[in-house]
Parts: sequence; structure tokens; C-alpha cells
Amino acid sequence: MNSKNRTPSFSSNVNRMVKRAMKVLNVESGVAKAIMSCNSILQVRFPVDIRGKVEVFTGWRATHSTHRLPAKGGMRYAPIVSQDEVEALAALMTYKCAIVDVPFGGSKGGLQINPADYSRDEMELITRRFSRELVRKGFLSPSTNVPAPDMGTGEREMAWIADTYKHLHPEDINYAACVTGKPVHHGGIRGRKEATGRGVVYAIREFFRNPEDVKGVGLNGGLGDKHIIIQGLGNVGYHAAKLLQEEDCVRIIAIIERDGALYNEKGLQVERVKQYINEHKTIRGYPDAQFIEDGNSMLEHECDILIPAAMESQITADNADRIKTHLIVEAANGPVTFDADEILNHKGITILPDAYVNAGGVTVSYFEWIRNLAHIRFGRMERRYEELRGEIELSALENLTGKEVPTSVYKQLARGADEFDLVRSGLDDTMRLAYQEMRETFKADDRITDLRTAAYVVAVKKISRSYYDIGVY
Ligand code: GLU
Repeated sequence: MNSKNRTPSFSSNVNRMVKRAMKVLNVESGVAKAIMSCNSILQVRFPVDIRGKVEVFTGWRATHSTHRLPAKGGMRYAPIVSQDEVEALAALMTYKCAIVDVPFGGSKGGLQINPADYSRDEMELITRRFSRELVRKGFLSPSTNVPAPDMGTGEREMAWIADTYKHLHPEDINYAACVTGKPVHHGGIRGRKEATGRGVVYAIREFFRNPEDVKGVGLNGGLGDKHIIIQGLGNVGYHAAKLLQEEDCVRIIAIIERDGALYNEKGLQVERVKQYINEHKTIRGYPDAQFIEDGNSMLEHECDILIPAAMESQITADNADRIKTHLIVEAANGPVTFDADEILNHKGITILPDAYVNAGGVTVSYFEWIRNLAHIRFGRMERRYEELRGEIELSALENLTGKEVPTSVYKQLARGADEFDLVRSGLDDTMRLAYQEMRETFKADDRITDLRTAAYVVAVKKISRSYYDIGVY
């Protein structure tokens, strides 16, 4: 509980959701406690000289679980970062990794800072100093704890973290694997930047591949032309909305941002809105849309799919009753509180849960980590070989039929997969399999009445197995 206003904290929201699944599984109370508690949490306070004045920064790195190593999770830079938030996000990482079968424990880090207040050079100084603290205290290395981008951080910060680790451990040949989400020319992997957003899209597509599920939420037909409202046009929201619009032909009727919302029943052009934000630092004044001052009121507007892709605790007991969508797709971590979740379940609104929906980021991080340990880009060995095989097969086909294969088809078939193709294929496969596992779990047990509980049943089953198999030492 948050002592001031008695609203449950983020971490207690996560725990209450997990407990619902543990009840179904009848997990022994000791094991349940062991799974839910955060293994270790590091708090650091460090001084940095900023424009001739010493400023003290506070940061955290929480390791929620180490049943698999390394522990994995993003690094958040925001003014409102707190220990509770970092612990809740670390716990979500544990469950997320288990749901998509990524063999990592769960971790998360945060730094209390508003990046907009500092120059690029100052951010580098602060990030390098923070990284040194993490390395020294055993919270950053390729084998134990591997950060990644999150809110307020990106490729730039990851490159500084990797470089700091490398300087402190010049003998570690696997140094690049100490962090994921790096720029491609610094050992990153193609497709990591948009991975979480793309994973969200793959999750929605898989849902629509199951007509029974689509009917179950009161919708019909395919994804095309569905009316979607999205909250947050950050890295996750932007890529998800853009792909959905460009590849699936959905209609993005509203975009909710920090300073308000844009609404257009005919659909908004995601790329244009993003460019407008980059230029003006606000959505205010964007042409071709109605501006709504109270942005969050648009969460309550009628739509087919609502995608909260911004912050935690956006749908709470206060507004849950007024939500009018068919399907909520949680692209953000923890956008729906426990109480809101219960209300929405009661109302019959289906939720595709965060621990499944936004697992695309860590999935591609896993590919990047493997690529760093293997010291080779995916597809490097086989790409030309596949291309050659395709050419041989096509010319055999042309000889046998006496007909020429159209150039566009020829180009597609006589082509070896590059890193982009392989990352997308691996991500798509992961999201499809995880959906099916969650769905089957949901269908198999009458006591499981929502997909979130099903997802946590899947996760807890896998995690508790490692406790039972190996024991507690
Ligand atoms: N920050 C992302 C998340 O919340 C990615 C974590 C990772 O790649 O380790 O899932």
C-alpha cells in the first residue's frame, strides 16, 4: 500500500495478480513467497559534477529472480522512478521471460532523472558513473545482470554502459553481451529498436488468427479497419501503431499523449503525428484532428481495441467502469491496476496482458545476447547458400515446366534470410507459441477466467518447477 493515499502500490498490484494464478495452481506458500519476493535490490547515490556544481543522483537495480541467469530487464530514466516501481517492473520481467520461454531471470533498473534537463555530454557522464556503480556492486555483467533500454533510455545509453563495462573488464571477451539494445555498429542486433512494438502487433495478429477468440470479445472479421485508440507514442506505441496502420490497415482514431489527445474518426497518420511531436515537442496544434485537452478521457471513448502503451496505472478503479472497448492490449508494463482488472473482467472486457504482449523486447534482446556470445551476425554463414539453393530449385522448375518464373516471385524465392528476416521470424514464432500456450491454459481450466491469470499460471508453473527440481539453497 502507498501510505499516503492508501492506493495499492505497483508491486502489490503485480503480486495480487500473480496470487490469483498461484491459487489455481495451489502453489505451496513458501514457494509462492520465494517466487514473488525480489531477491536483491541495490540503491546507489552518486555525485556528478554538473556545470561546476555537484549533483547527487539516486538509482536502483532490482534483481527479482535468478532461477535463470543472467537476470534481464530495462533501465528506466524518469523523474518519478522509485524503488517500488523498479521492483514491480523487475517482477514483471521474471514472468515475461517465463511466458515467452526466454531463459533469463527478471531485473530492472531506474535512475531518478529528467533527461531533458541535461546535455548529451552530461547524460554520458551520469550514465557512465551509474554503470560503474552497477559493475562494482555486481549488478552488471554478461553472465549475471544485463540491462536494456526502457523509458528515457535508448541505444545511446546502452553503448555508454557497454563501453564502461569494457573498460573495467578489458579481459572479458564477451563484454558486448553485458547490455542489449545497443546500436548495430556496437554489437546490437537489427530489429531490436522496434521489437517491443512489433511484438505487440504479432500478439494482436495471433489473437485475430483465432476467430473464436475474436467472436468472444464481440468483434468479427480480420484486423483491417478496426478502430484503435493508442496511449503513448514513445518507442513501443509508435512502432506498434505505425505497423498496425501500414501493414494491417487499421484505423488509429485517437492518440493520447502527455499533453492531451488527438482524435479523428477517419484515422490519424501515425508517422505525421510523430514527426509533428518531434518538431513541436507537443501534439497541440496538429492539423487534421480534434485536440482534446483532457487526454486520458479518450481512454473511455468507444473503440474496438485500446492499446495503453505509456505508463503503469492508467486504468484504475476510478475509470475502469467507463472503458468502452472490446479488447485491451497492454503494450505498457502495468497499465491496468489490480482493482481495475477485476472491474474489467466483470464487465466482460478482454485483456491481452502486459507480461505476454510486451515481451517482444526481451525476446529480441535474447537474440542480441546470443549474437554477442557467438560473435557472429545471424545469417552470415547461410545467407548466400540459401540464395544459391533457391536459384538451383527455380531453374530446375523452369526447365521442367518450360515456363519462366515471374521476376518478383524469383526475387523472393532465390533469397537468403538476413538478420532482419531471422529476428522477425524468431519474434513472430515466439509470440505465436506463447499466445497458444496461454490460450490453451485458459481453456483447460474453468477456474481461470481471464487471460492474465492464464499467462501467470504458465509463468508460475515454469518458475516453480525450477524451485522444485533444484531445491532452495
Ligand atoms: N525494457 C524492456 C521491457 O520492459 C526490455 C527489457 C530487455 O530487453 O531486457 O521488457
